[in-house]
Amino acid sequence: MTNLAGLSQAELIAFIEEHGEPAYRGRQIFGALQHRRLRSFDEMTDLPKALRGRLHETATASTLTIESRYLSEDGTRRFLMKTHDNLPVETVFIPEEHRDTICFSSQSGCPLQCTFCLTAQLGLLRSLTPGEIIEQIIIALNDAYGVGEKPPRGANLVGMGAGEPFLNFESLIKATRIMADPQGLFIVPHRVTVSTAGVVPRIRELATIPDRPNLAISLGAPTNEMRDELMPINKKWPLEELLGACKEFEETLKPGERFTFEYVMLDGVNDSNEQARQLANLLNRHDLHAKVNLIPHNPAAPLPYQPSPATRVEMFKSILESKGVRTFVRRPRGRDIFAACGQLAAVTQTAGLRAS
Ligand code: SAH
Repeated sequence: MTNLAGLSQAELIAFIEEHGEPAYRGRQIFGALQHRRLRSFDEMTDLPKALRGRLHETATASTLTIESRYLSEDGTRRFLMKTHDNLPVETVFIPEEHRDTICFSSQSGCPLQCTFCLTAQLGLLRSLTPGEIIEQIIIALNDAYGVGEKPPRGANLVGMGAGEPFLNFESLIKATRIMADPQGLFIVPHRVTVSTAGVVPRIRELATIPDRPNLAISLGAPTNEMRDELMPINKKWPLEELLGACKEFEETLKPGERFTFEYVMLDGVNDSNEQARQLANLLNRHDLHAKVNLIPHNPAAPLPYQPSPATRVEMFKSILESKGVRTFVRRPRGRDIFAACGQLAAVTQTAGLRAS
């Protein structure tokens, strides 16, 4: 079964022609999937019934099924979905004042073992296909705005859900290309940000790609010693190497492209004044100008951490800023429904959760 939701317009035309149909049918189906955001052939009533019947035999219009949907006090929605082979996929819709954000997953589970992240506890189940990445966006958009309805102010996408996007690089880039098609979802790369824990070769590769998504790097610690402990991927690509690649990337930035660092704030672990100075010095030593987003830790029962108190976060921020590092504090969203950063672990318990 070919999942047509993961094909580019050109691939879909080729697929349709192989089945003895004219090219315009391919364009029509691409529009039905990616622009009208339909999830089954049966809804494509402008296709001849016989063609729909033949499509059913070799292809599918969607593969993910929605298992549950959780609504946060702050309006954030978490979708827990299942793949055709019964693996969990999570997507988060975050309503915002100016432009809403959809946070998608690149893998089911995650192979990295960051000690502060709940997703790590799942391990890697498998990487998602381009179709499974795109379907997450379609599901979230349809739920938020209505099937096929345009988001009134557009939508931002962030690849900050479960998984390490740069260990599923090809599918990620393919999905962003398909989503950029003006006859489809038409979400341009400029509206997409992907986050990596530091897969250095792929950072270098992204630097060479035209029409690429924006980049975010999860730092989490200002020294190799601490980063080795919190983010074991650091043993493979230590800070000097990572920040060297970041500098190369920064040099390729074009106007309007965004490049940021994320720093999870763990109470009493990586949030001291000394660590703020180390972080600022590290970035300055590598001549990096990207801004830093401080993310107060989102607690989750088995994780041995607490978020840094607000006053600590402010102090940390002011030290960074005093050394010329632009710093922002991220407001946590959807904590109450296990939808915040680092909380995606296919949690289904409904105690205190408003499922709908
Ligand atoms: N694997 C990629 C994509 C996940 S992004 C990456 O690491 O960048 C998830 C972001 O949330 C990362 O910046 C990560 O450092 C942060 N994070 C993980 N667990 C968290 C938690 N419990 N609280 C707050 N932020 C967390």
